[in-house]
Amino acid sequence: MHELSVLKQMIRTIEHTCREQQIEKVETIVLQVGELSDFLPEFARDVFPMAVEGTFLEGAGLQMERVPALGRCRECRTEFHPSEHQFRCPVCASLRIELLSGREVFIKELIIEETEED
Ligand SMILES: [Zn+2]
Repeated sequence: MHELSVLKQMIRTIEHTCREQQIEKVETIVLQVGELSDFLPEFARDVFPMAVEGTFLEGAGLQMERVPALGRCRECRTEFHPSEHQFRCPVCASLRIELLSGREVFIKELIIEETEED
């Protein structure tokens, strides 16, 4: 399961960062998921509880934002929005496309729970 291993790797990174910065509790993890990424948000949501089980992130929420894809034609430099069905330059019809964004999955931010002190 691809999503599970990606999540587990992210959780290790988050744990490491939190230890360094002495953050004790993360309320929500916010990820950005490229539109053409093979990381499926619906699937990630299902396996997330399994990924955080037994870690210090157990009980944290998961939010995912879709990032639109952006491609650039290597021939005429036109930037356009590629999709799985349209991967051709809309201006010169070239197939030599450079993908600028759309495949990446990364941690956008961690929402940290505020501790109330009475
Ligand atoms: Zn072009």
